[in-house]
Amino acid sequence: MSERYLHTHDVVIVGSGLAGLRAAVETAGCLDVALISKVFPTRSHSGAAQGGIAAALGNEEPDSWEWHMFDTVKGGDYLTDQDAAEVLARDAARAVYELEHMGVPFNRNPNGTIAQRAFGGHTRHFGEAPVKRACYAADRTGRVILDTLYGQCVQRGLHVYPELSVVDLVVRDGIVCGVIALDWATAAVHVFHAKAVLLATGGFGKVFKTTSNCFANTGDGVFLVYRHGFPLQDMEFVQFHPTGIYGLGVLISEAARGEGGVLRNRHGERFMERYAPTIKDLAARDVVSRAIMKEIQEGRGIDGRDFVHLDLTHLGRERLAERLSDISSFVRIYLGIDPAHAPIPVQPTCHYMMGGISTDLHGRALDVQGRPIPGLYAAGECACVSVHGANRLGCNSLLDLVVFGRRAGQDMCARVPTMDRSPLPADAEEATRERLARLRERTQGVRPAVLRERLQREMMERCGVYRSQSGLEKALETVRGLQEEYRHSVYLDYRGDRYNTDLMEALELESLLTLGEVILVSAASRRESRGAHSREDFPQRDDHNFLHHTLVYRDEEKIRLGTKPVSITRFQPKPRVY
Ligand SMILES: Cc1cc2nc3c(=O)[nH]c(=O)nc-3n(C[C@H](O)[C@H](O)[C@H](O)COP(=O)(O)OP(=O)(O)OC[C@H]3O[C@@H](n4cnc5c(N)ncnc54)[C@H](O)[C@@H]3O)c2cc1C
Repeated sequence: MSERYLHTHDVVIVGSGLAGLRAAVETAGCLDVALISKVFPTRSHSGAAQGGIAAALGNEEPDSWEWHMFDTVKGGDYLTDQDAAEVLARDAARAVYELEHMGVPFNRNPNGTIAQRAFGGHTRHFGEAPVKRACYAADRTGRVILDTLYGQCVQRGLHVYPELSVVDLVVRDGIVCGVIALDWATAAVHVFHAKAVLLATGGFGKVFKTTSNCFANTGDGVFLVYRHGFPLQDMEFVQFHPTGIYGLGVLISEAARGEGGVLRNRHGERFMERYAPTIKDLAARDVVSRAIMKEIQEGRGIDGRDFVHLDLTHLGRERLAERLSDISSFVRIYLGIDPAHAPIPVQPTCHYMMGGISTDLHGRALDVQGRPIPGLYAAGECACVSVHGANRLGCNSLLDLVVFGRRAGQDMCARVPTMDRSPLPADAEEATRERLARLRERTQGVRPAVLRERLQREMMERCGVYRSQSGLEKALETVRGLQEEYRHSVYLDYRGDRYNTDLMEALELESLLTLGEVILVSAASRRESRGAHSREDFPQRDDHNFLHHTLVYRDEEKIRLGTKPVSITRFQPKPRVY
């Protein structure tokens, strides 16, 4: 038997994006906390967040948390749990001022208050007109919050384990009591024994070909939870952001439209006037993405091709440099275009997962019956507290991370000291060792990258902005075929121990293939159109049959589906127009 690396902590946080770091800031003072991350913390995907964080501060014009809550519920096409949306909107101002006091350098108004700008779906007076609600630091808001929170963690003496991937949960008698992790530098397997585990492993945009997401967003935590038979929620809801750079998917933040940018078709027409007469280019993302696809399908893409233009030329070089400097430079680097002089070719890109690990308002992961799973928490994009429902509004993710990351941390501080440490199974890491050995023993077959590319293409083609029953079923057949190939033929070119990225890709591919299947099964079961889930064969929303959350879980190798009621408190569902 190889050497055993055993670590014992009160709490293990997996993932060092804003959700993981905010939970760490909360717990590091009161508990012995370990933070594990497969990338160095400040390289986490949250650092890519551009446009801002939402809070009804009312610094530019009147605003209120009730309007923010309403927009969040309407934006989520009434699938948003309204108790969660209320927590989010009420706590937003406190959360932003807290970040400010920790040192986040937000842009300022001349009177010193935090500057705010417009973003899609944020309105005043319950939908009357756009409101400036996004607090921002140029177009690198995620970067500065990530660095600030990491600084706070260092000050609190947090124990960080960077460049370790968690590859399994340790579950004994239904209690989660640790994780198994692989050290990329050495290929050593580490066992972490804890009273509670918080998963903050981010999204899984890498299931799709065109995505704004980084390479690490492969949904590892979500996959592990599913593999242990716990439920995932609302997995059919995948957000496509309207303005990915054509052919690349690199994001042009909604802040560009918040600052006045407009979308145009091949005739130079500002087509959003037809789809969202009141707030036009600042409608919610699902609405704008569908509008772009419609323009393309009807031959009004630029030169009849599959993209439209985002026009920022009228904003002026100075404003672009001051407020949108990073994205201007992406456009110059990737396309060789100066956005002050020429429009940017854009198309919808996979951006955000509304679905994930089902949790309550305190970040406690829930089982199929809705009971907290002892020892397991989740926060951030990998979780589904259902604050975003069927479609997330821009700037509500960063807010979700710091509000619910903190709440999960508070709950752990309250509960973990009274919890017993569940004993570790003697063979906790054996299944992992066998899994790794299996992957390393084959000497020929198909490489992980080949299967991944086929998965990503299939998902993009048949489970993108628009879906249909026949397309979803066809994709399911393909994905299940790829899973078979994975089981029987995947092999690694490199079988060594040091930074074996081949091995990493193979492990991540297992989660991508599983989550692809789960998304397709969930999407096929929802025979209606709601938010980001647009069915060509069922174009209407159907509250009578589908105003509920989807649960999907594994039971003895079979995929099972269930439902969960939506929490509706203040706002009754009504038609969604912008
Ligand atoms: C280009 C872009 C711009 C965006 N702009 C905005 C914006 O302006 N406003 C907004 O509200 N939202 C924005 N978003 C969305 C937002 O950035 C994300 O939803 C959010 O950052 C996710 O944070 P997280 O903490 O859940 O996960 P992440 O920041 O993705 O972090 C995940 C962490 O988990 C770790 N991890 C993953 N798997 C493992 C494993 N197996 N073992 C160990 N560690 C693991 C990773 O190393 C990483 O540290 C944007 C997203 C993109 C892609």
